[in-house]
Amino acid sequence: MLDLIDITKRYEIGTFRQTALDSVRLSFRNHEFVAVTGPSGSGKTTLLNMIGGLDRFDSGDLLIDGKSTAHFSEAEWDAYRNHSIGFVFQTYNLIHHMSVLANVEIGLTLSGVSAEERRQRALDVLKKVGLSDHVHKKPNQLSGGQMQRVAIARALVNDPDIILADEPTGAIDSETSKQIMDLIRNISKEKLVIMVTHDEGIAKAYAHRLVSLKDGRIESDSNPYHNHMDKEGRLRIKKTAMAFSQALKLSFSNLKTKKFRTIITAFAGSIGIIGIALVLSIANGMNREIDRLERTTLAEFPIQIDPVPFDLDAAREQGGPPGRAPEPDDLEKHPDGTTITPYERTLRTTQHVNVITDDYLDHIDALDESLYNEVAIERRVNMNLLRQRETGEVINVNTGHINFSQTLSKEAFFDDTYDILEGRRPDNEHELLLVIDEYNRLNARIINALGLSDTTTYQFEDFIGMRFTVALLDEYYVFNETSDLYRARTDLGDFFDTDDLGIDVEIVGIARMSDDAVSSFLSPGIKHHPDLTALYLEDARTSEIGMAQMESDTSVITGLPLSSSAKQAFLRTLGVDSTPVQIRIYPASFEDKDAITAHLDAFNEGREESEEIRYTDIAAIVIAITGDVIDGISYVLVAFSAISLVVSSIMIGIITYVSVLERTKEIGILRSLGARKKDITSVFNAETVIIGFIAGVLGITIAWGLTFPINVIIRRLVDGVENVAVMPLTLPFILIMISIALTFISGLIPARIASNKHPVEALRIE
Ligand code: ADP
Ligand code: MG
Repeated sequence: MLDLIDITKRYEIGTFRQTALDSVRLSFRNHEFVAVTGPSGSGKTTLLNMIGGLDRFDSGDLLIDGKSTAHFSEAEWDAYRNHSIGFVFQTYNLIHHMSVLANVEIGLTLSGVSAEERRQRALDVLKKVGLSDHVHKKPNQLSGGQMQRVAIARALVNDPDIILADEPTGAIDSETSKQIMDLIRNISKEKLVIMVTHDEGIAKAYAHRLVSLKDGRIESDSNPYHNHMDKEGRLRIKKTAMAFSQALKLSFSNLKTKKFRTIITAFAGSIGIIGIALVLSIANGMNREIDRLERTTLAEFPIQIDPVPFDLDAAREQGGPPGRAPEPDDLEKHPDGTTITPYERTLRTTQHVNVITDDYLDHIDALDESLYNEVAIERRVNMNLLRQRETGEVINVNTGHINFSQTLSKEAFFDDTYDILEGRRPDNEHELLLVIDEYNRLNARIINALGLSDTTTYQFEDFIGMRFTVALLDEYYVFNETSDLYRARTDLGDFFDTDDLGIDVEIVGIARMSDDAVSSFLSPGIKHHPDLTALYLEDARTSEIGMAQMESDTSVITGLPLSSSAKQAFLRTLGVDSTPVQIRIYPASFEDKDAITAHLDAFNEGREESEEIRYTDIAAIVIAITGDVIDGISYVLVAFSAISLVVSSIMIGIITYVSVLERTKEIGILRSLGARKKDITSVFNAETVIIGFIAGVLGITIAWGLTFPINVIIRRLVDGVENVAVMPLTLPFILIMISIALTFISGLIPARIASNKHPVEALRIE
């Protein structure tokens, strides 16, 4: 069934040419026991390798069942080796990290036999060679004779037609050799056995046919065979393929024998993963912390409508806060001389100016009340507040000093935020509230502004019932014909002597911020009912002095000229111009904020840019800035970790390469059993996949473990900041995949090197 026709094989070492086989012509019968003898270096092994398809001849042809192999593809050779040939080597060539059973099974795994059948067939042949009791041992737990039996079992398990044995007893004592030879002779009853031996005694005792070689030529053949046209078609050529699961199993069992190194390798590979996992965990935890902060603390920040909205981008671009005077084009810096130039504060042309209109106030009025806790509308109006001391003297109370402003507009929210310590909440324009701080203190400035001494303590009842008068503009300012200006009324006592002057107001309650209030809305001092504002502004708008000031470009009180902005400010102080300078909307909850901003955005829809009113969301700015910072830091740290990931990948590549070198013999064995190049690549890819997986799991586990001490340390360092490092749930999965991918890539080249190893040379390695 096999015919060698003028097979020639030469080896070239530099310029030296060694002819290992020289026009060998030889035919074999279907069943016979052929012993090939000859001195060392005569070409016996080379001949066997040619027949077994482990190596290619330079010229001539090998006919298998009369079929030429000259144009065989790699796949056909692989299949031929796997199905038709069983190799038995002098040095057994067993895979050391696998059990006897697994060693025998391996040939079957390449031909795609089911696990169950594989096991059964392997056990059967092991029984045949007398090793039933040793199937779970590792090769190095066996004697030489036993190892050779395993090798024979492996050669037989696929039921090949040809057994090729290269000095099978060369390393075995003579007693055991006899048993092995008996076994081989038995096999030859059904198969073609070609055995190489330099021991002529053994050859003569067992073989049916002796072929001797010398210098690569056939010197003698005891029983030549010439019937070349023998075509029984027994040889099967079926493609082999190793399942990736088998490759994984092979690599896994190999890695198991090198546990320590595998762990160290995986650990090295995991360092980058640890770094990235930690960085991302911290970024994640920080973002969650910010989110929490956003929901609790930052939710207390109002949405603010200022004359000039704060624009983070513009501020960054222009390098300064809004409202800073622009650089002049026509003046030089640090000038000589003694002149001082007045200038009007104008805004940068690029800056947006909010012109708050009545429309806008109506729009805010239309806001769903449940969305906010408070809408604070700030105006510059400066009411004339008068108080008569016990001595009868009337004093002007500085409204700025006593923080004279509106109390909260929503009663329910007021009750949640403030405790009434004495009296009640103001109910109408005549009622005032005194707000004191958490320690029941009042700033001396407030006390003094009320005309009281700050050197004694006071009782609640000292303030309850304290009366004031709010002087309306025309009551307070009287036109003076001679100066053509308005002057404050000279006798302020009139306000207290007559009933028809001023709006009488009286402190009716004392309040303090409650314990569980999150932030303070009212500064300590005296607060009035919103109705008082309305009343006062309504009056101011139609006041005589107000009208007069509207008409004039000089102050109607001082007679001095006013710039347009100074005039506007003055009109606001008087209350004639009631445009708010600021509106603050305090959302009821974080979720409501979006609804509020959506409502505010709706106002701008369809309006010209100049008419738009832009709000400032302080919380959003804080979040944007901190978010940017955290993102920036994360990128840098991720970049560093990525470098370590690359370094560890390279290392894994090197280690895989070392593994390739170490497993060269195994590569040769697998190839001799019919493994394709692809299968060899698979085995090493499987190894890197396993290492990558272990590295990923290890990295994730270590990083996860580290998040706990990190959190403890950060909690100690920064008060109230908890769980800064929190691993996102998807991260382990993603990073393990990355780890596998990277180690896989770094192992590709070594795996390719492995698969390109020449099987014969690979087998030669010890
Ligand atoms: P035998 O098995 O009979 O001892 P071999 O078949 O191993 O002999 O070798 C035949 C000849 O070919 C020897 O001279 C040997 O040195 C040479 N040879 C075998 N393999 C190689 C190789 N890979 N490279 C170079 N020379 C080789
Ligand atoms: Mg040899």
